[in-house]
Amino acid sequence: MPATTLEIDLRSDTMTRPTPEMRRAMADAEVGDDVFEEDPTVRALEERTAELLGREAALYTPSAHMANQIAAYLAGRSGDEIWAHELAHILGNEQGGTSVLSRLLPRTFSGPDSTPPQEWLERLIKGTDDVHRAQPALVCMENTFTGRVMALEGQARVSAFAREHGLKAHLDGSRLWNAATALGVSLAEAAAGPDTVTVCFSKGLGAPVGAALVSDRDTIRRARRARKLLGGGMRQAGIIAAGALYALDHHLERLADDHARAERLAASLSAAPGLSAEALTNMVIAKTEPGEAPKLAELAGAHGVGCIAIAEDTVRMVVHLDVSEADIAEAAARITKAAEALAA
Ligand SMILES: *Cc1c(COP(=O)(O)O)cnc(C)c1O
Repeated sequence: MPATTLEIDLRSDTMTRPTPEMRRAMADAEVGDDVFEEDPTVRALEERTAELLGREAALYTPSAHMANQIAAYLAGRSGDEIWAHELAHILGNEQGGTSVLSRLLPRTFSGPDSTPPQEWLERLIKGTDDVHRAQPALVCMENTFTGRVMALEGQARVSAFAREHGLKAHLDGSRLWNAATALGVSLAEAAAGPDTVTVCFSKGLGAPVGAALVSDRDTIRRARRARKLLGGGMRQAGIIAAGALYALDHHLERLADDHARAERLAASLSAAPGLSAEALTNMVIAKTEPGEAPKLAELAGAHGVGCIAIAEDTVRMVVHLDVSEADIAEAAARITKAAEALAA
């Protein structure tokens, strides 16, 4: 298959290439067998990630998907309940892994927030001593929630509720970097509360591979066993971990630029015929006339700008490391041209 012909790829913040400096760090990485816990670069990445998030320990995983699934696997036994938003990545975008791998029963809520409302929690916790009921094991949150920043008060409230009732709380913070940047808080503050937290190095940070699960030392010891069970034991993984380590050192600070660029793109697109656009951290959500979104995404692609229709009237664009200031102006011009063609 040919590589993409898209000149400006806004389909996802995973569409980045390692920078020359990142590649150099990867090429020069000290490595060892990480299944034997002898890869110094992986150890360094895990220690640095845990420290940044204010936790005892971290485990490097091939993907955020696997980190989430390990958290679910550790939290519940077969038949227990997992509570999450109906659109949570851990339920809807990981092939039903929590059902397949851990045999957990999903209980969902809807609404704009990924953080369960207090009334919903209170309603679900009632009657759990009834013989008919499955036992609740895990309550999940997500931040950012498809670009939207969740208030940390909700995270603290849900985490306290979970502790009080003997559930585990998990935060899918694949884009926690963006949330912390937008909130103007430290990563440790943004991660505070839940028992386990997932972060992803290959989204906004632009590393080629990997994610991490962070928690207390004992949970991470068990997570290391679970990662092996899932076939995620990696050998000289320092090669890829070095990219993530480089990203933590050099690409965290610049996320505010992505957010500012998303704002500029949204402002430009709102002037295009038939479009209204909103920036949510590094994402731009553009509303089209009903049914027009797939056509707009296709036409933009033909003009060399990659974006995705996430609904019949909604196109998503994601700003990342490989999108420059000039790319934003160019993308806005080309998508505007596409919107004009559709409106004509
Ligand atoms: C992308 C994403 C994941 C999965 O990340 P991978 O590293 O690609 O597996 C999980 N959760 C959320 C919220 C995501 O956006």
